[in-house]
Amino acid sequence: LKTIVTKVDIPLSYGAAFEGERVRKDDLFVEFGGKKQATELVEMAEMDEIEDNKIVVIGKEMDDVKKGDKLDLGIYVQVAGRKFQPDFEPILERQIHHLINYAQGVMHIGQRDISWIRLGQPAVEKGFKVRHIGQILHDMFHKEFGSILDKVQVTLYTDPKDVKAFTEKARAMYKARDSRVENMTDENEEIFYSCTLCQSFAPSHVCVVSPERTGLCGAYNWMDCKASFEINPTGPNQPIEKGECLDPKLGMWKGCNDFVAKASRGKISQYNFYSIVYEPMTTCGCCECIAALLPGCNGVMTVHRDYTGETPCGMKFTTLAGVMGGGQSSPGFVGHSKYNIIQRKYIAGDGGIKRMVWMPKSLKEELREGLLRRGEEVGVPDLIDKICDETIAIDEASVYEYLQKVGHPAVEMDPIVG
Ligand code: SF4
Ligand code: ZN
Repeated sequence: LKTIVTKVDIPLSYGAAFEGERVRKDDLFVEFGGKKQATELVEMAEMDEIEDNKIVVIGKEMDDVKKGDKLDLGIYVQVAGRKFQPDFEPILERQIHHLINYAQGVMHIGQRDISWIRLGQPAVEKGFKVRHIGQILHDMFHKEFGSILDKVQVTLYTDPKDVKAFTEKARAMYKARDSRVENMTDENEEIFYSCTLCQSFAPSHVCVVSPERTGLCGAYNWMDCKASFEINPTGPNQPIEKGECLDPKLGMWKGCNDFVAKASRGKISQYNFYSIVYEPMTTCGCCECIAALLPGCNGVMTVHRDYTGETPCGMKFTTLAGVMGGGQSSPGFVGHSKYNIIQRKYIAGDGGIKRMVWMPKSLKEELREGLLRRGEEVGVPDLIDKICDETIAIDEASVYEYLQKVGHPAVEMDPIVG
């Protein structure tokens, strides 16, 4: 029954050596995601529900595409196996990024519903097709996770209508996964987990994932890292005994520092889990959001990848990610997941969610339920309406005017720096 794959069945060279290459504008043939929607989801199926190595493209294939096209894409991977558990879905899903990147001339950025894939002209000339994305995932999932799965079926959607429906389904699943850590606290867990998956792009970057601080890519929470360690005990997610608490307010533990120092090869000696101002965590390029200090507003703003407009810190998301995303710790800036914003420890060391003075309207809407809940919890039930967005102001001075007008809590709080 088991398929043993030694080689990936695509018309391109394939291997880790090609992981870091970019597909630049001049070489670009077709792009999925970016300004279009591209979503990926791994879901468990029953053994008799799917057929191994069945790869289907619904919608346009490369023959219907011309140079310069931008398309929507849904990558739906169904996995079955006697040893497979739903807990393993996010771990396999997060591998899609590097597995697709391994193909020469193919670039993959992001995860979940913010993926972005570029196919270069040479790759297309060699015969690379949309279906090969599925082929890579089938072949490599068998190779890397053969001990826990028996069948892999991949459906690729390129019709915007299908991608939209698929994305809605995927978002509901992401939400259910996120909420699995909802009632856990950092205080009650002695073990946190490392994630060093992103070191191939950001060598000094080390995520330490605690129950109340999910990975900044949004794709790995504490539960996921735990499951990943079970599958692969020598892999990128290692248990870390958090050890002595060095600062409960800013969130610093001796055991985590020791691990980070070693895993970053001495580049980063320590960081805080709950601060943007003081020694924040390192940031890599796949963060879902980047928060920035707004000293003139006595608070912080955050921006997510989907929002391409201007922000009150003077930089768009892409600029922020370019400057901060190399794996360093940059006081005043920190990458984080969307879900982290509504976790209780979010920048708790700097005053928490009450410091949030600006975020794009679409992000506010996406997190509405959680922001309302957090607002209640911190005694400002209408906090969501007090948070400024781009429809109200995008320069710091006007944001501050708005905060004063609506009585935003940050206006009355202690200075955020100093
Ligand atoms: Fe892991 Fe962090 Fe990269 Fe997410 S951003 S894959 S948690 S290292
Ligand atoms: Zn990353």
